[in-house]
Amino acid sequence: MSDARDASAGTPAGGHRPGERSEREALSRVPILMYHSIGGSDRLAVRPEAFAEQMAYLKEHGFTPLPFSGHAQPADRPVVITFDDGYADFHEHALPVLDRLGFPATVFVTTGWLRDAGPHAAGRPLGRMLTWRQTEEIAASGVEIGAHSHSHAQLDQLDGPALREELWRSRTLLEDRLGRAVDAMAYPYGYSSARVRREVRGAGYTAACAVANSVTTDLHDPLARPRLTVRAGTSITGFGRVLQGRGFLADHALTKGYAVVRRTRYAARRLRGVV
Ligand SMILES: [Zn+2]
Repeated sequence: MSDARDASAGTPAGGHRPGERSEREALSRVPILMYHSIGGSDRLAVRPEAFAEQMAYLKEHGFTPLPFSGHAQPADRPVVITFDDGYADFHEHALPVLDRLGFPATVFVTTGWLRDAGPHAAGRPLGRMLTWRQTEEIAASGVEIGAHSHSHAQLDQLDGPALREELWRSRTLLEDRLGRAVDAMAYPYGYSSARVRREVRGAGYTAACAVANSVTTDLHDPLARPRLTVRAGTSITGFGRVLQGRGFLADHALTKGYAVVRRTRYAARRLRGVV
């Protein structure tokens, strides 16, 4: 199958005539996996044994894990492994498995939730979170650290100053403490909007993760890369389907209709002077 885009792609490379390659081949497709707790008890928490089995599956099937910020580099069967929120059990259960296999990964940390956030403590952590020391150890072991806002706010519902504060503070705290640039972030709950993405770009982030449960391609906004949710109930067969972007039920929170509801909610609150 050919399409107009292939035909207009310019000088053909590697002996391909224009229009010869299918769109599917022309696009780089990268499954970006989204984990939360490894060992916790909620519906998104994956058991440590299941996580180890899933990582072994990637190894056996020839996948090449990449850090999120490097996901566009050429690789055989690329995959990105991400973790949201900054649960302490990442350090305990996930890091040893990743280390053993030599797999890079990315952890998106909610800075106000860190166990020893001290005067910067903000929001309500959903479980036992990392300490700064553990975050430093994780970074030192080669895991990429990204931001996940400061207080885990619903960013699309915040006014401009509050939104900028969430984006700036999490990035600055991480950069100061880790001594390295933090260019990637993930939206709490996956919620973003064109307005939020503009502010994210303005705050200096170059890549950001949404949720959306589809495989990332070149066509997606770099500031809204879709990810694939791995859940407590994901079997190893189901994991194989997740990697292909299949097997997801329609999720109310991710539909276009719900995005409109959220925009309307924000607009109504603005009218009432709440934000
Ligand atoms: Zn989160």
